[in-house]
Amino acid sequence: MFDKVLIANRGEIALRVQRACKELGISTVAVHSTADADAMHVRLADESVCIGPPAASESYLNIPRLLAACEITGADAVHPGYGFLSENARFAEILEEHQITFIGPTSEHIRIMGDKITAKETAKSLGIPVVPGSAGEVTSETQALKIAKEMGFPVLVKATAGGGGRGMKVAHSALDLGLALATARSEAKAAFGNDAVYIEKYLQKPRHIEIQVFGDGKGNAIYLGERDCSLQRRHQKILEEAPSPALNAAARKKIGETVSTAMQTLKYRGAGTVEFLFEDGEFYFIEMNTRLQVEHPVTEAITGIDLVLEQIRIASGAPLTYTQDQVTFSGHAIECRINAENARTFRPSPGQITYWHPPGGLGVRVDSGVYQGYRIPPYYDSLIGKLIVHGKTRNECMMRLRRALSEFVIDGIETTIPLFQELVSQPDIVNGMYDIHWLEKYLQKP
Ligand code: ADP
Repeated sequence: MFDKVLIANRGEIALRVQRACKELGISTVAVHSTADADAMHVRLADESVCIGPPAASESYLNIPRLLAACEITGADAVHPGYGFLSENARFAEILEEHQITFIGPTSEHIRIMGDKITAKETAKSLGIPVVPGSAGEVTSETQALKIAKEMGFPVLVKATAGGGGRGMKVAHSALDLGLALATARSEAKAAFGNDAVYIEKYLQKPRHIEIQVFGDGKGNAIYLGERDCSLQRRHQKILEEAPSPALNAAARKKIGETVSTAMQTLKYRGAGTVEFLFEDGEFYFIEMNTRLQVEHPVTEAITGIDLVLEQIRIASGAPLTYTQDQVTFSGHAIECRINAENARTFRPSPGQITYWHPPGGLGVRVDSGVYQGYRIPPYYDSLIGKLIVHGKTRNECMMRLRRALSEFVIDGIETTIPLFQELVSQPDIVNGMYDIHWLEKYLQKP
C-alpha cells in the first residue's frame, strides 16, 4: 500500500479522496493555487503545497508543478479526482516515468477512450451497441449531408475530443447542417485544440444511463449497476439517481454483463464509467469516462462499496475486493449537484458564504469542500457540494430528499437549491418519467 498520496485536485473531490486515504492510513498531500490557500482540502490534509496562481493552467493543470510537489513531499502516488488532469494520458505516462503511481487506468486506455471516435470503434469491436452514425471523422459538408440523409434528420455533430457538453451541435435539416458543422468545429478547436468532428443520429427522447465498472488490469472486471443521469441542462448533469427508474433487474444484468465482459477483454484497470443513451428499450454507447465520476456516491449508497478506496487498492496492485456475486443493490439513492449559481439563469455566484447549515439525519450525505465564512473564488467550476440521499425505496428517498432540501441553508451566495426544491414536487420527477430533454423544456416554461 502507498505511504503518501498527492491529490491533484480541489474542492469536494479532494476532500473525498482524503477521506479514503485517511481510512487506509495513508498520509495526504494537498496542492492548491494561491486562490485556494484557505480551502478545506488544504486545511485537512497532512501536508500542502502551493503550486501557482489562480488560473488552472498555471496550477491544477500544470504538470511540471505537480511533479515538483510530488518530489518535494515524496508522494508515491497521485489521485487526480475528476476534471483537471484526470483524463490526461500524458500526465499518467509522466508520473509512471517518475515511478509515481497514477491512481487510474493505463495511459493507453485513457488515450483510446479520450478520443470519442476511437472509443466508439473500440466499444463496437468489444460487442457494445453504439449510436448509429458516421464511420469515423467527417471532413466535408458533402460527406456530412450524405450520411445525414441516409440516417435521417435530426443529427448531432460531435467533437471527437469533446467533454462537458462542448463541441456538440444539432442539425434538424439539411439547411442547419453547414452551420452545425462549422460551429461544432470552431467550439472544439477553441476548447480542445482539435477540430475533428463526427456525426450521430440525434435521439429524441433518450435517458442517459451509465454503467459503473471496476477492473484489476489483469482481465477481471465487475459492474456496480447503473446511474440514471437524464436530468440535464446543456448536456450537463444536474441530478443523478440509482437504480434507474427505467430498468428492471434483467435489463440491468444484461447491459452490466455486456460491459464487464468488454472490460475483461480490454484488461481495464481501475474505475470506469461506460455511458449510454437508452431509448425504446435499447442501449446506445456514447462514451467512456476513465476516472471517478462526480455522481459516484449514488452507487456507493446502493452498493455499500467505497469506490475511492477500491481505486486506491487496485492501483496498489491488490485484486478486486468483490466478485460480481458479492455485489448487491439495496434501496434507492439520488444526488443533487449544489452549484453556486442563480437557480434560474445559472449565472455563477461566487463570494462569501455567510451562513452554512447542511442537512443531516438518516440516509443523508453531504459532500462539500466549503464552510461558513469561506469565500468561493471565481476561477473554477461552480459545484460547491453534493447532497446524496438514500432510502429503502424510491418513494422513501424522494420524501427524504424533500426534507433534506428544506433544511439546507446557504447564505451570502446564490445556489441551485431552490431549483431542486421545485423539481422534487414535479409529478414527472416524482414518477421518474423524464428524459434528457425534460429539464430544458421545463426551464423554458414561464
Ligand atoms: P460530453 O463528453 O461532452 O459530456 P457525451 O457524449 O457524454 O458528451 O454526451 C453528453 C450528453 O449529450 C448526453 O448525456 C446526452 O444528453 C447528449 N447527447 C450525446 N449524444 C447524443 C445523441 N446522439 N442524441 C441525443 N443526445 C445526445
